[in-house]
Amino acid sequence: MVSRVIPVDPFDLVIFGATGDLATRKILPGLYRRDLAGQLPEAARIIGAARSEFDDGAWRSEVRAAITEHVPADRVHAAALDRFMARLSYVRVDATGEDGWQELAQKMRPGMVHAFYFSVGPGLFGDLAHRLHRHGMNSDGCRIVVEKPFGHDLASARALNATLAAHFDEQQIYRIDHYLGKETVQNLMAVRFGNMLFEPLWNAQYVDHIQITVAEAVGVAGRGGYYDKSGAMRDMVQNHMMQLLCLIAMEPPYAFEPDAVRDEKLKVIRALDPVAPADIVRGQYGAGNGHASYVDDVDNPKSFTESYIALKAHVSSWRWKGTPFYLRTGKRLRARTSEIAITFKDPPHSIFGEQEGQRSNALVIRLQPNEGIKLKVTIKEPGPGGMRLIEVPLDMSFAEALGPGAEDIPDAYERLIMDVIRGNQTLFMRGDEVEAAWAWTDPIVAAWQARGDRPQPYDPGSSGPEDALMLMHRDGRRWREVRP
Ligand code: NAP
Repeated sequence: MVSRVIPVDPFDLVIFGATGDLATRKILPGLYRRDLAGQLPEAARIIGAARSEFDDGAWRSEVRAAITEHVPADRVHAAALDRFMARLSYVRVDATGEDGWQELAQKMRPGMVHAFYFSVGPGLFGDLAHRLHRHGMNSDGCRIVVEKPFGHDLASARALNATLAAHFDEQQIYRIDHYLGKETVQNLMAVRFGNMLFEPLWNAQYVDHIQITVAEAVGVAGRGGYYDKSGAMRDMVQNHMMQLLCLIAMEPPYAFEPDAVRDEKLKVIRALDPVAPADIVRGQYGAGNGHASYVDDVDNPKSFTESYIALKAHVSSWRWKGTPFYLRTGKRLRARTSEIAITFKDPPHSIFGEQEGQRSNALVIRLQPNEGIKLKVTIKEPGPGGMRLIEVPLDMSFAEALGPGAEDIPDAYERLIMDVIRGNQTLFMRGDEVEAAWAWTDPIVAAWQARGDRPQPYDPGSSGPEDALMLMHRDGRRWREVRP
C-alpha cells in the first residue's frame, strides 16, 4: 500500500545549525526523502545557516555526503540528489552577531511559506528570535521550529516562552518532540478514537496498569557534557514520555485539531499527582561488556545524575483513578526498544480454573524498532487434550501490513517538518504544556538534590537496577522484558 503524497506549499526553509549533527543526520536526509516522495514543490528552497566557512557548492557537497551516509542506498538516486541539491544554498550567519543577517533576509522570497528551524544549542534560541525580528523576518505567516531541550526547569522554560513570545505568536512557534511524529504514536490516536472497540475499556475499570518503556542500548558518550546536567528525568521523562502518557490518558478531543488535542493533553499533565520518593528508582550504569561506566563517559567521577529512571505515576481523573502508569527509561540497557503496553484486568471469574497459559490481555504499541501494534489474547491451544489456554499475539507490524511502499512512510522528522510547512501544530507542544510538565518535574528533581540522592548502579546490558523490578513486584506486577 503506497501512501498518498500531497505536495506542500512552496517554502523557504532556513536551517540554523545546518552544519550540526541533527541537521546532517536527520533534517536534511529527511527533506531529501520528502523530495524523493514528490512532496516538495518545484519552488521549495532550503537555506543552510551556520558560522562555518562554506559557499553554496561546499555545503552542497557536505549535504550530498550526509544523504549518502544516512539514507539507505536504494533510495539514493543521482537525478533526485541533483534536484535536491539545486534547492540548497548557504549563508554564513552568527546567531550572536550581525554577520550574514542582511544576506539571509534578502534570500527570503515573498509569497513563500517562511520557516526557520532552530537546530542550534538552546542558549541561542533567544538570539535567533531576536535577530529574526530585528531583520524583519518575523512576518505574520512565518514559523519557527524549536528543538529540545525546551528549558531545564519551569523558570527557564517560562523565560524562553517569554523571549519567543516577544517576537512570535504562539501559532508561529513549533516546539518539536519527535516522538509525536512517529507513525505509531499517531496510530495510537487512530486506534483509540477511530474505533469503538477499545474506548469503552480504556479506563480504570478495565485497565490494570500501563507501562511505558524507552530503553536505549547506547550510553551517553558524545553527549556527556549536556546529559550530565540533565539526566533521564529531564532528558526523557519530562518531554517524550510525558507526551506518550498524555496521548494514552487524554479524553477524546472534540476534533483532531491543534488546540483541541493540546487542551486535552494539558488537562492530563495537570491531573498528574506528585510522585512519592518511594515510587521512583534512579540508576546509573557501571562499566562492563567492554564499555566505560557512566561517570567515565561524562568525565565526572562524582556525578549523581541518573542514566535510568523508573517511576509510578497516577493521573487523578474520573477515568484513571487507581490505575498506575509505570514509566521507565535508561541508557546502556539490554536492547533499544520503545513501547507502550496497556494491560487489561483479568476476567472477573475464570471458568477454566487456574491455567498456566492464561494471561491478561495487553495492547502493546511498539514505537521502535519495527513500529507496530500487537494485541495479546488468550485462545485454546489447538488439538486434543482438553481446554488448555495459550496466549497469542494479533500482530500488526506496519512494514508487513502496508507491504511494498512502507519504506516511503515518512519518519518522525520528515512528517513534522511537513506539518510545519502546512501550518499544522497538532503534533507540537504548546507553551503551557511544556510549563505544566516542568511544574510536575521540578519538585521531583529538587527533592533529590535536597537529600543528595545517589542513583543505584546497574549492569550495562541489563534491564536496570534491582529496585526498579521491586517497584512493580511489590504491586504484584512485572515489567515486560526489555528486548529488541
Ligand atoms: P551540534 O552538532 O553541536 O550543532 C550545532 C550547530 O549550531 C552547528 O551547525 C553550529 O555550526 C551551529 N552554531 C553554533 N553556534 C552558532 C552561532 N553562534 N551562530 C550560528 N550557528 C551556530 O548540535 P546538534 O546535535 O545538531 O543539536 C542541535 C539542537 O538540536 C540542540 O538544541 C540539541 O539539543 C537538539 N537536538 C539534537 C538531537 C541530535 O540527535 N543531535 C536530538 C534532539 C535534539 P557552526 O559551528 O558552523 O556555527
